Amino acid sequence: MRVRPVIAGSSLSHLDCARCGQREDPDYLQTVCPECGGPLLARYELSREDLRGLPWDLPHRSCDLWRYAELLPVRDRKRRSGLGEGMTPLLRADRLGAALGLESFWIKDEGRNPTGSFKARGMAVAVTRAAELGVEALAAPSAGNAGLAMAAYAACHGLSALVAFPADIPPPYVRECRAYGAEVLVEGATIREAGQALKRHIAANPKWADAFDVSTLREPYRLEGKKTMGYEIAEQLGGVAPDVVLYPTGGGTGLIGIAKAFEEMISLSWMGETTRPRMIAVQMAGCAPVVEAMRAGASRVVPPETAQTRCWGLRVPSPFADREILRTVRDTGGEAVAVEEKELLPAARHALRTTGIDLAPEGAAALAAIPHLLRGGVIRPTDRIVLLNTASSAMYK
Ligand SMILES: [Zn+2]
Repeated sequence: MRVRPVIAGSSLSHLDCARCGQREDPDYLQTVCPECGGPLLARYELSREDLRGLPWDLPHRSCDLWRYAELLPVRDRKRRSGLGEGMTPLLRADRLGAALGLESFWIKDEGRNPTGSFKARGMAVAVTRAAELGVEALAAPSAGNAGLAMAAYAACHGLSALVAFPADIPPPYVRECRAYGAEVLVEGATIREAGQALKRHIAANPKWADAFDVSTLREPYRLEGKKTMGYEIAEQLGGVAPDVVLYPTGGGTGLIGIAKAFEEMISLSWMGETTRPRMIAVQMAGCAPVVEAMRAGASRVVPPETAQTRCWGLRVPSPFADREILRTVRDTGGEAVAVEEKELLPAARHALRTTGIDLAPEGAAALAAIPHLLRGGVIRPTDRIVLLNTASSAMYK
């Protein structure tokens, strides 16, 4: 019998700022960099010898994201369980791929996560870690799915939660969040204004004075949950990287996270130096700040005056991590592309009829981008391509 490595503690070693490199202690509750306000990134002891053989042990582990526990920040083993988040299927979509002119095409269906979206990953890890560090209340603005995931994981860990949605949020989000026991505000045109309303509400209500802000990249660990998409893609492809990841990009945590996962896997010697996937950010023409910044060669985004799209998850006019999104797309040799609203429905129908996969509008946007990317020479027919369907379509119906 083969000797299996024991599932060890988290190898989390420190946090450092993505912008100025400031180093911080990971075992205190941290938000953003105290020096420059940039996002803090979790760093691990990746040279630890026992981590090298970890891929061989993965088949014996729990079928959720906690299978990568050594590379996640939660130290207390008893806390490493949630609602069954992660290990979503990577589905071969050969007929759809062939119809688009692609030889190797997969859809990673994040709609299978608890609460129906990839947001479960980030919240599972961030809320578990926050609870481990003594937090009792959480707050965040949300375009929809993150608020729902926060409410569910707050319930899972016995924390209270305050979520702020923009005014046109579909009523089921509000109902479901309240059903999990969360307090819900509904105010403002986009997540940005909802965030401002949230700040006012917290200032006026002492009950929420100590609420921990789990907004996108305002704390270090949602990114760590999201990065597990990258680990899973590699594991599900048999230990190799795809050539291209198509990522519908709003706040961008998943895009940055997947790229971080591949960097970590290279540092762990799980794969070679040359195996980084090109990260392609897909946005909607009605709200495409990353695409505009790429075109302009800029390092920051300029928020569009109006942000209009029925893809709520992509209606993020000024992502907090704009610099990190742009750097990731450029450093991986990727690109950013926008699609039109009218392309969504035909793309979703095409996927449904050729694969049986019911894409959310965000996933449909990524699919609609493929013909543009092929024409532009950004992707090649021979590339191995993974598309992230970030949510279930259920809440859009
Ligand atoms: Zn900094």
